[in-house]
Amino acid sequence: MPHARAAEPLLESDSGLPAARRAIAALGAAFVDLVLPAECAVCAAPGHRLCAPCRLDLDAALARPFRAEHGAAALPLGPGGVPLPVVAAGRYADALAAAVLAFKDHHGLHLRAVLGEALCRSAAVARLAPDVPEAAHALLVPVPGGAAGFRRRGYDPLAELVRALPAPWVVSDAVRAPRGPGRARRVGPSHAGAGSAQRRRRARRWRPVPGRLPAGAPVLLVDDVLTTGATLGALAEAVRRAGGRPVGAVVLAAVAPPADDPGPVTGAGVG
Ligand SMILES: [Zn+2]
Repeated sequence: MPHARAAEPLLESDSGLPAARRAIAALGAAFVDLVLPAECAVCAAPGHRLCAPCRLDLDAALARPFRAEHGAAALPLGPGGVPLPVVAAGRYADALAAAVLAFKDHHGLHLRAVLGEALCRSAAVARLAPDVPEAAHALLVPVPGGAAGFRRRGYDPLAELVRALPAPWVVSDAVRAPRGPGRARRVGPSHAGAGSAQRRRRARRWRPVPGRLPAGAPVLLVDDVLTTGATLGALAEAVRRAGGRPVGAVVLAAVAPPADDPGPVTGAGVG
């Protein structure tokens, strides 16, 4: 499988930037860590980069991975007309929403370990799902990050999480980001003011570039946050054009609550 490899850093392939620039970006992030006083990435309390109460909240939010496809109307449909199965590590609200936003937008790179472990648990749940038997030997294909986002942050958030997944997970970089503004500018929960229809339109415009996957290879798609499912839809289309077969998806957080959770959606600030 020439385009597949064991889970390892995706920064080089995703960013398309020379190694020297990546090293400078990493040094910049380390410098910010040194000169700014530590504060909690979730609640902004001074003293720790993740305070003990927020760590407990985060652990609780990530304790029960759940199936999230029921809440995403724009997910692609599989055989039998059922939505693509999606396993979410937690619900996109409160502590988890704050942690994901910090990790994506505010140099919360230190959250990589806890969020990466959560993504790993979700992948394990997907692997054991009885209705997704091919997940057990599926390749992982993450939503590719754009070079613009990488330059802004100094790292690619999703690649940072995917690289934390241990063997035997195999990550493929066969699907690349389109040129131009990154996905984060077109779709995603950071756009608090964008309605779901607007996000769907943006995601429809976002077209990742397919490379080549082993013919018919089962693929688990990977994304950070599931909102409408339109981004995963665009990724699924690219995977099919690359020769692969999407069988399910794994996300860090889903806006929709678990099907058995009657509580209101709060804290996320997304529509
Ligand atoms: Zn806190």
